[in-house]
Amino acid sequence: MIIILKENANTRQVENLTNWLKQRGFDLHMSVGSTQSLIGLIGDTSKLDIDLLTSLDVVDTVRRIQEPYKSANRKFHPADTVIDVAGKAKIGGGNFMMIAGPCSVETHDQIISVAQSVKASGAHVLRGGAFKPRTSPYSFQGLHGKGIDLLEEAREASGLPIITEIMDINHLPLFENVDIIQVGARNMQNFELLKELGQTKKPILLKRGLANTIEELLMSAEYIMAGGNENVSLCERAIRTVETAPRNTLDLSAIPVLHKHTHLPVVIDPSHATGINELVAPMALAAVAAGADGLIIEVHNDPPHALCDGKQSLTPEQFDDLAKKIRAILPYGFRKEEWA
Ligand code: PEP
Ligand code: MN
Repeated sequence: MIIILKENANTRQVENLTNWLKQRGFDLHMSVGSTQSLIGLIGDTSKLDIDLLTSLDVVDTVRRIQEPYKSANRKFHPADTVIDVAGKAKIGGGNFMMIAGPCSVETHDQIISVAQSVKASGAHVLRGGAFKPRTSPYSFQGLHGKGIDLLEEAREASGLPIITEIMDINHLPLFENVDIIQVGARNMQNFELLKELGQTKKPILLKRGLANTIEELLMSAEYIMAGGNENVSLCERAIRTVETAPRNTLDLSAIPVLHKHTHLPVVIDPSHATGINELVAPMALAAVAAGADGLIIEVHNDPPHALCDGKQSLTPEQFDDLAKKIRAILPYGFRKEEWA
């Protein structure tokens, strides 16, 4: 980190600042110019409050030269993280994970039927929302605890591990037997929730918020990892831009950018990204080509009658066709080593 001091900064105040920084364990590198001086800070600056430093009378500007995230940073952990899900599936470090299933768990027959068909097409993990973050309070909100029970039955019937979204930290006990806990886009910066998930050892799928930067996504992962849970995968599910033709704008460049900066696996959600059935396959294939470590795709047995997100849901047949195409191009997916 570099602190640029104000022109003709008061010597006593500069001394106070340098003493304070030294007391906090930093090595300082002073560069004194005829009118303006700089302090180079050597040490872990991740806990330093930039706003506080910037507000000091003698400080002109503060620039970070190192990323504020540590646990998620590839610099400190060069090898890809590999996450094991209940001994049945793996993601990261060359292990590709296909997650598929309906937006919401609706009935026993629906979730069992979708679980069996996506399993037959080669999916590794079954998705299904039990707590649904809906824009309208009048829309279907999910089956809550009953939905998680049905997912567990579908796991039993299909052998697939299950992923479902948590919206409230008070619901955590209900997730005890869930294999991967999803943090949805709207909760990406629910820091108390993230801290609590950091206390568990469960694999977490952390989705990027609709208006969040990649660095903010990494800082949210850092919240979970700082608590001791390193089993975090990141999910790009598109952001809001000026474009309204698809539901959101899928930021595929997030894949190589994340691979460059972090060792955590990167998942793409082409369903919530586009919101449109016919856009899901092209975006899924593009994500695999760009090096995604996994995909999460909505599949419904009867999309026109789905209680949520039918418009973007693939039929089991469409998913089967897509899964074959994905397997065919998987070996050609771009890997981060090719950056070097
Ligand atoms: C979901 O995956 O069910 C979901 C609600 O996604 P997002 O948080 O990306 O909107
Ligand atoms: Mn959905």
